[in-house]
Amino acid sequence: MNLPSLRNIGIVAHIDAGKTTVSERMLFYTGVEHRMGEVHEGTAVMDYMEEERRRGITITSAATSLPWKGTTINLIDTPGHVDFTVEVERCLRVLDGAVLVLNGVAGVQAQSETVWRQMRRHEVPYLVFVNQCDRAGADYFRVLADLERRLGVPAIPIQLPVGSEREFRGVIDLVEEVHYHFEDSDRGAVPRAGAIPEELADEVGVLRAELLDALAEDDEEILAAVLDERQPALEVVRAALRRSVIRGSLVPALCGAALRNVGIQPLLDAVLAYLPAPDDVPPVHGTHPKTGEACERPPDPAAPTAALAFKLVADPHEDLTFVRVYSGALKPGAKIFNPRVGRMERISRILRMHADHRQPLESAGPGEIVALSGCKLTGTGDTLCDRADPIVLERLLFPEPVITKVVEPKATGDRDKLRAALERLQHEDPTFRVREDDETGQWLISGMGELHLEVLQHRLAAEFRVEAAVGEPRVAYRESALGVASGAAHVERVLGTKEVYGAVELELRPAAVDSAPPEVRWADGGVIPEAMRPAVEQALRAGLDSGPRFGFPMVGVEVHITGGASDPTRDSDIAFGQAANAALREALGAARVQVLEPVMAFDVRSPEEYVSGIIADLNSHGAEIRDVVAEGESRAVTGTVALAHMFGYTTSLRSLSQGRASFSMQPAGFRALEPDELVARGLVWT
Ligand code: GDP
Repeated sequence: MNLPSLRNIGIVAHIDAGKTTVSERMLFYTGVEHRMGEVHEGTAVMDYMEEERRRGITITSAATSLPWKGTTINLIDTPGHVDFTVEVERCLRVLDGAVLVLNGVAGVQAQSETVWRQMRRHEVPYLVFVNQCDRAGADYFRVLADLERRLGVPAIPIQLPVGSEREFRGVIDLVEEVHYHFEDSDRGAVPRAGAIPEELADEVGVLRAELLDALAEDDEEILAAVLDERQPALEVVRAALRRSVIRGSLVPALCGAALRNVGIQPLLDAVLAYLPAPDDVPPVHGTHPKTGEACERPPDPAAPTAALAFKLVADPHEDLTFVRVYSGALKPGAKIFNPRVGRMERISRILRMHADHRQPLESAGPGEIVALSGCKLTGTGDTLCDRADPIVLERLLFPEPVITKVVEPKATGDRDKLRAALERLQHEDPTFRVREDDETGQWLISGMGELHLEVLQHRLAAEFRVEAAVGEPRVAYRESALGVASGAAHVERVLGTKEVYGAVELELRPAAVDSAPPEVRWADGGVIPEAMRPAVEQALRAGLDSGPRFGFPMVGVEVHITGGASDPTRDSDIAFGQAANAALREALGAARVQVLEPVMAFDVRSPEEYVSGIIADLNSHGAEIRDVVAEGESRAVTGTVALAHMFGYTTSLRSLSQGRASFSMQPAGFRALEPDELVARGLVWT
C-alpha cells in the first residue's frame, strides 16, 4: 500500500464523551457499515464483545479499516474507562495520530487528562473534536478554554459551530471558509456546502486571523501573507496546518454532534488532511537483541522486517495477534523471528479487520495494522523481525495492578481448566497478573480496578466455560526495600550421583522508579556462565514475587549480579538457582523493607449543593483535595486518596448527592505505609 494513503488513528476520550458514537458514524459514512449502530440500543458493531454490549461501554480495542476518499484509515477504538488505560497505551504506541473527543458540556474530564498525558508521552499528533454540541449547556469555546486552563493546550479552532443546542446543524470550516449545513435524510445527514452566513462573517474573520497568526509562527509563506494583509492560498494554509499538527506545535479543534450526524464527514476529511501518514513520522527505534546497539527501521518495504505485536485476542475461531508493521513485509505461510523467545513463528493468515468481516491479505507492508493467525509464542509487546537482521522495538511500559481478588474453581475438577484460562488471560493482558498461593491452593488475580477484574471474571465463564468463585476485591500491596544490601551464597552438594555447584553474589538496590517491577541486571556477573543465567534470573524473579514481610510482590528494586563463581565440571542450573535464591534472601534480610499501597487520583463531579458534604466525607477518608473548580452549574473536586479507603465509595457518593454526582478514579502511584497505618490496614507483622 502506498504510504501517504494510509492513516493509523485512534479515538481517545473520557467515557461517555461519545467515542463509540463517533466511531460508529465514521463506519457508516465510509460505507463499511450500512446500518447505523446506536450505543444506547446496544447494537454498536464496534462493541463486538458481548461484555461491552452488556455494559454499553467500549473496553477493548477493535481495529477497523475504513476507506475514505482513496485513503485507508485504520481506526483503533480505544476504551474510555479508566480501568483500561493500558489498552489506550498500547494503541498509542502503534498509532500515528489521534482524535481527542471531548464532551461539549462536561469539557475536559479525568480520563481526557490521562489519555492526553499518554499522547504527549508518545508524541502523537492529534485533533480535538468537541462532541455533543447539540446538548443543552454545550459550549465549544468554553471547552477549548477548559483545555487551555487544565492541560495548557491552546487548541486553535479550525471550525466554528453554527446554531446551538437543538438548533446546532452546521459547522464553518475556517480553512476553506465554507459553511457545511447538515440535513437529515434516512441515510444520515449529508453536508451541504454554502456561503458563510452574514451574521457570522465578523466572528469567522477574527478566528481565521487567529488561525493564520498561529500558522505564521512556523511558516514563512503565511507570515509574508499576514504581513502584506493578503489571504494565502487554500493549499498553502492546508499544507502549513498539516506540518504544524504533525510537528506537534499546533492542535486544531473541530466540533460536531455525532448522535445527530453533524460534523463527521469534515472530521474524516481533517484526519486525511492533517494527521500523519506512516512516512510522516520518524523511523521506529529499537535495539539489537544480542549487542544492545541502537538501531532504527524506516517505513520501507525493502528494509528488514520489523513488526510490533500490540494486542492478543482469543477469538472463538482462532487466536489473533494484532501487529503494526514498521518495515519490510509479512507474508502468510512465512516464518518470522521473535527475539524475546529466540524462536521462529509461522504466520498462517494475515487479516485486515473490518467491524463485521475479515479480509485475508497476501502481504502486509510498512504502516499496516493487521491481525495474524498462527502465532503461538508471541506476547503483547513482542517484536517480530527477520532472523538475519533482528531488532527489539521498545517494549511497552505497563502500570502495576492495584486490586487483588482470590479465585478458586467451583468444581475441584476444574483446577487445570481454570489455570489454563487464567494463564491465557494473563498472556493477553499485561496488566492482569495471576499468582498461585502455595499455602491455600487459591489463585490471586490482580488488575487495574474493579471493573477490569469483573470483566475478566465474566470472560472466564463466557469464553472459557469455567465457573469460578471470586472473593471480594482487596488492595494490591507491594513491598520495597530501602538502601543497598548485598547477599552471597554458594551451593555445593551431591544430587543423586552427581556433584553440583553454583555461586552467586548480588546487590539489592533501589530502582529509579519507586513502583517499577523489579529488574535483574548483570552488572559484573561475568564469571557466571551464560548457560546458568536463565536459572539465576528465574530464581530471582520467583523470589521477588513474594516479599520478605508479608509475601506481597516487590517493586522499586533492582538486583545487580555482582559476582559468583563457576566450576565447569560441576556447574548446575539447579545449584545456581538455589544459590541465587539464598543470596537474595540474605540481601532482603539485611535491607529495610517497607510496605507500599496504591494511591488513586479521583475526580468527583457534583451539583454545587452537595459539594461541601462530599468534601467533608472525602476528608474523613483521608483524601488530599487538590482542586475544586466550578464548571457551569457543577463542581469538579479532584485529588488523591489511598485506594484502601475507596471501596464502595460509589454507594456512599450516591447517598451523599441523591445519585446526582459522578466519580472516577485511576491509579496514581504507590506510597509507603507508616507503622500505625500498617496496623490500621490489618497488616500485622508476626
Ligand atoms: P463513549 O463512552 O465515549 O464511547 O460514548 P458513547 O458513544 O457511548 O456515548 C455516550 C452517550 O452519549 C450515548 O448515550 C450516546 O448516545 C450519547 N451521545 C454521543 N454523542 C452524542 C451527541 O453528539 N449528542 C448527544 N446528545 N448525545 C450523544
